[in-house]
Amino acid sequence: MSVIYAARWVLPIISPSIQDGAIAVDNSTIVAVGPRPDVVARFPHSRITDFGEAAILPGFVNAHSHLELTVMRGFLEREENDFFAWLRKLTVARLAMTTEDLVVSATCGAIEAARAGVTCLGDASSAATQAIRALREVGLRGIVYQESFGPDPKLARENVAKLREQIAELRTLEDDLVRVGVSPHAPYTVSGRQLDLISRLAIDEKLPVMMHAAESQAEQLFMLEGLGPFAEGLRARGIEWEAPGLSTIQYLEGHGVLETKPLFAHCINVDDRDLELIKRAGAGIAHCPKSNAKLGHGRAPFSTFVSRGLNVGLGSDSVASNNTCDIVEEARFAALLTRLTSAAGHDCSAITAEQAVFAATLGGARAMGRPIGALAEGMQADIAVVNLSGAHQQPVRDPAAALVFSSSGRDVLLTMVAGREIYRDGHVSGLDESELRRRLATIRIRLDGSV
Ligand SMILES: [Zn+2]
Repeated sequence: MSVIYAARWVLPIISPSIQDGAIAVDNSTIVAVGPRPDVVARFPHSRITDFGEAAILPGFVNAHSHLELTVMRGFLEREENDFFAWLRKLTVARLAMTTEDLVVSATCGAIEAARAGVTCLGDASSAATQAIRALREVGLRGIVYQESFGPDPKLARENVAKLREQIAELRTLEDDLVRVGVSPHAPYTVSGRQLDLISRLAIDEKLPVMMHAAESQAEQLFMLEGLGPFAEGLRARGIEWEAPGLSTIQYLEGHGVLETKPLFAHCINVDDRDLELIKRAGAGIAHCPKSNAKLGHGRAPFSTFVSRGLNVGLGSDSVASNNTCDIVEEARFAALLTRLTSAAGHDCSAITAEQAVFAATLGGARAMGRPIGALAEGMQADIAVVNLSGAHQQPVRDPAAALVFSSSGRDVLLTMVAGREIYRDGHVSGLDESELRRRLATIRIRLDGSV
């Protein structure tokens, strides 16, 4: 039996917005999208929920998150001016977290996502089993990328053998909603040898790949000149590093990473040749403008990504560097930043509200290689309904502009994944949120006491 959701606006993303629109959902699938009278005529016996002054659109895609780090919101404010120190403190604290800590932290992050209308995440995790559990608890869709570290090339084989075992186990947890991928963390934490082996593994096992790339100036210095904190850090551990003298993307191409059609997070320091390589490879980009700004890493050329037709979505990154998981807010920030003249002069064309909403939905889905992110007959019913009746939103002339420039994830009324309502009217279904937040506070106290 199908159900109908109606609202003043429906934004299917792959087709023009519909005024006084509706969608019909049957089990996990969208069976109709159109003007309300047409949809009702096709399914005359369906129950109708009318959200009134609201927009129905595909659920938001958060293409880059680290849900397990949710407990670290606000934990690293003082280290933000030194990325190396920031990463070191984060890594030490994460190693001190128990399995149960990671589940609680990730579940609280998944709840935050569901409340903000996010239906699909690209989550990088050091403990993917726990992240998968968290997504499943809340009912979210996603790819969980098991992280791999290892800057010492001598340990590459051993590290990848361990990764192979982890993947075999994680594969048994996959279902229609949650898939497993791999994430060689970054070019300064994973050796070239290990990148070669992971690329091979990903191609052989058909695993999606996510990698942090071209994020910081420290990384650029490491790649081009073999200098700076990352290079010094390796030398202090007795690991040799000879800088390739190439951009990160060109270096990764040499290690087979582009053959895996990866999802790259950040891509701040990229040139024309890099973008051409990304395009030719069919790779995706998770644009994380708030995290990039908060850590002072700079601004990725988002409007260039869009004008070149790259698969670009939006990512919150971890709340340790954001400090929220809210893709509506990310879309606003992304659009506004393109309206400032870039110091490099390559990114001064403005991104429209429609383009920002596209990146927040279908763009993210394409960057992750998943067939979601739009409202059309036959597609999975992954939906967000955003209230537009608030004092901060009225009057509404254009729904995309109202969403991007006047709204936030807190205006979400309903989040649905594969036809299941996982968040509605202020409640995440089936979870004791206050108990989880109490446990999160306990972990927070322990974490703060350990540093
Ligand atoms: Zn990240």
